[in-house]
Amino acid sequence: MPNTTKTGIFEYAPAPESRSVVDLKPSYGLFIGGEFVDGSAGSFKTVNPATEEVLAEVAMGDEADVDRAVAAARKAYDEVWSRLPGTERAKYIFRIARIIQERARELAVLESLDNGKPIRESRDVDIPLAAAHFFYYAGWADKLPHANLGPDPRPLGVAGQVIPWNFPLLMLAWKVAPALACGNTVVLKPAETTPLSALLFAEICQQADLPPGVVNIVTGAGATGAAVVAHPGVGKVAFTGSTEVGRLIAKQVAGTAKKVTLELGGKAANLVFADAPLEQAVEGIVDGIFFNQGHVCCAGSRLLVQESVAEEVVERLRERMKTLRVGDPLDKNTDIGAINSAEQLARIRTLSEAGEAEGAERWSPPCELPERGFFFAPTIFTGVSQAHRIAREEIFGPVLSVLTFRTPAEAVEKANNTAYGLSAGVWTDKGSRILWLAQRMRAGVVWANTFNRFDPASPFGGYKESGYGREGGRHGLEAYLDV
Ligand code: NAD
Repeated sequence: MPNTTKTGIFEYAPAPESRSVVDLKPSYGLFIGGEFVDGSAGSFKTVNPATEEVLAEVAMGDEADVDRAVAAARKAYDEVWSRLPGTERAKYIFRIARIIQERARELAVLESLDNGKPIRESRDVDIPLAAAHFFYYAGWADKLPHANLGPDPRPLGVAGQVIPWNFPLLMLAWKVAPALACGNTVVLKPAETTPLSALLFAEICQQADLPPGVVNIVTGAGATGAAVVAHPGVGKVAFTGSTEVGRLIAKQVAGTAKKVTLELGGKAANLVFADAPLEQAVEGIVDGIFFNQGHVCCAGSRLLVQESVAEEVVERLRERMKTLRVGDPLDKNTDIGAINSAEQLARIRTLSEAGEAEGAERWSPPCELPERGFFFAPTIFTGVSQAHRIAREEIFGPVLSVLTFRTPAEAVEKANNTAYGLSAGVWTDKGSRILWLAQRMRAGVVWANTFNRFDPASPFGGYKESGYGREGGRHGLEAYLDV
């Protein structure tokens, strides 16, 4: 007989991944011109959100540092990278992809330590997908004239890239791989709570013998990001993060010649029709909102379920949620790890309290949260109306708002009733209904009978306040080329 707890749920023996594969240094400098150098503005601490332990001190880059990094990137662009034939650039990018694969375990453990995400996800999703992006764009580097973007597409120069903390290495890969394939050089600023995998990536660039200055990493906070965006030597700005900061950036670059892509927030609808295979749909709902603690721009954070099956779906969902294991991100059994920071935890709590105050019904399965670290139990709200804050604002946490609909037209109406437009999901047995809905949904990605599936060959990006431009696939090349 397997061990079960009082609630009838399986008890698992801990299966912790070893941290010994990661060689953490006490402090890290900036990566400029192929070397680690000191920053000029002091340092900040990056912590493990599951334990609140300080992992390392990281240099705080300022305007002068950004200036040095852009100069190094420009030099590498003029003297080396833009002159290399695509076949040669491809070899470096391919080599980076191979090294990511070789060092996958180390990267996965580091990502889970710094971000709080379950090792199962960093190991099986983040790191393999990051490698896949480099492989994919290595393949494009010598085929740019055949990408249907004109006969002679040219690189833009130095790309300034600013990324968020939810998928640190993967967001880096989305940005760096196409930029390099197209012949640009890069100054990248990782998020302040998750700089470590980008710094390990800098080591990987050294290991791959990437010419100095082709990739530069400047760590720091918002002001460092703003300095990257504002630098006159940057020809392309690529930003992934909140809509709020995206707006600031759009204003900042207005009237300049900089090309911009903005990948911002989301509040995706996950539509479940009465004819859907409900057991699979429940798995998709769970994956849609609890994957990566719900720190996912395209998370299915609004469940829209057809009224005739709403009770059954919610009941099944509750049963499934009772089996989710919350805790140590390095334990291979863990489904939901730590919330990335105290600030993010406070935001999730505030919005959840607003949900209750506005009259929605809150439910979480019984689960013990670790005493230290930033944790939040998986939560659903029923009785949610479209006017509630939890139906409109991005919570960016493991919190699902459940709404209902009667007809397909009403489903579309409600799904599109949001300021965002990044993604959506549809669960139904009817192919014709999937096509009908996909044509009407204002969302960059529509998943059918699945959710949160990513592929480097598939473009990703938003409508409305979710931003503009596409990353991934052939479309992702256009953002880094003068066509
Ligand atoms: P954020 O906007 O606070 O920060 C993102 C990055 O921007 C960080 O590196 C930050 O230091 C930097 N930054 C902050 N202020 C800046 C400024 N004024 N100028 C330039 N850079 C600045 O977002 P976050 O909290 O790190 O990330 C969560 C957000 O990212 C969510 O809204 C989520 O939906 C979004 N996101 C979107 C996508 C997508 O592809 N659309 C993917 C992942 C995350």
